[in-house]
Amino acid sequence: MKKGTAAVWAGEGDINTAGAVTTPIVNAVAFAYSDMDEWQEVATGKRDGFIYSRNTNPTVAALEEKIRVLEGAEAATSFSTGMAAISNTLFTFLKSGGRVVSLKDTYGGTSKIFLDFLPEYKIDVKLCDTTDHEQIESEIAKGCTLLYLETPTNPTLKIVDIKRLSAAAKKAGAVTVVDNTFATPINQNPLELGADLVVHSATKFLCGHSDAMGGLLAGKNDLVKKVFHFREINGGSLQSTPAYMIARGMKTLELRIERQNSSALKIAQYLKKHPKIENVFYPGLESHQGHDIARSQMSGFGGIMSFAIKGGFDPVKKFLPKLKFVHLAASLGSISTLAGPPRTTSHVELTEQQRAMLGIPEGLVRYSVGIEDVNDLLEDIENALKAV
Ligand code: PLP
Repeated sequence: MKKGTAAVWAGEGDINTAGAVTTPIVNAVAFAYSDMDEWQEVATGKRDGFIYSRNTNPTVAALEEKIRVLEGAEAATSFSTGMAAISNTLFTFLKSGGRVVSLKDTYGGTSKIFLDFLPEYKIDVKLCDTTDHEQIESEIAKGCTLLYLETPTNPTLKIVDIKRLSAAAKKAGAVTVVDNTFATPINQNPLELGADLVVHSATKFLCGHSDAMGGLLAGKNDLVKKVFHFREINGGSLQSTPAYMIARGMKTLELRIERQNSSALKIAQYLKKHPKIENVFYPGLESHQGHDIARSQMSGFGGIMSFAIKGGFDPVKKFLPKLKFVHLAASLGSISTLAGPPRTTSHVELTEQQRAMLGIPEGLVRYSVGIEDVNDLLEDIENALKAV
């Protein structure tokens, strides 16, 4: 089954819904049994079925099956948000005395866990320069429980080599986790490249409509089970209504991503030549530092770019409000174009000093391309740049 087909069909029809052509929203909190032996078998995991919606639920299970198939994984589970997926995964594997190797450029919320929360639990956190693969390999070789990667990164679109670093982690006996939110399973499959687990903010491209939040995790069965157990007790579970909305969004994922890949490349190429633009960060540009690695591990370069307008934050303040076809808002990956400076979006949690440490210019704009006509978006940017 190809990805476009899996996005539509995977997980659908797995429960008996009287021939309904889409998995319905099952709002029940608990599932009843008249046969005590059957109840016991389902409750102890010896037989498939549903017990209580904090564990899972028919609508949620349909969504979990979609990501499992799209990521080519043995198992999948879900969470109330992307951050719940990330924090539950980190706290499942990292215990006091453990060590995690990651990157300086992860999503702001993830960075916050690395910089503020994990050290409080006496977990050693090593954040490496994102593009320095030698340094990352040498830190992995010193020993770690977990290697945590994100590629492309938020917001400067740096690329890390998943195959190379997963191989180094395997040698060191560490579990590799990759945040695949920016690429989506349409453009990149980290498990195929050697990662053990892949995590998503389903709030972004997977849902695709900026109207539901969720997190997903897929990968090796024994590892996913461990995180599932941690989450079912901690309770960061996904509800059936957002699960339905995300699954509905995922049915058009391939169509949207194809359009967004193509529009983003055209816009990045246009901005690269614009005299008022200092720098464009998009892995599809040949001039991008990680372009060769991106070409080797991605089938498309995604719908997100960032760019710095010459002159710092003042021109950004003039430019952004002049855009017509954009929501100036703190999200990405939707059908409508979304933009904002990282200092009010992805990295608002960090201090100016922490952002500087991550190489994020204060005048940077993150631009997440929607499914609008690309010519309208280009004209919109051209007009808004006249105000700068
Ligand atoms: N990972 C990445 C790459 C993100 O961009 C985000 C949010 O922007 C998250 C994780 C967190 O997801 P959520 O907002 O669903 O908790």
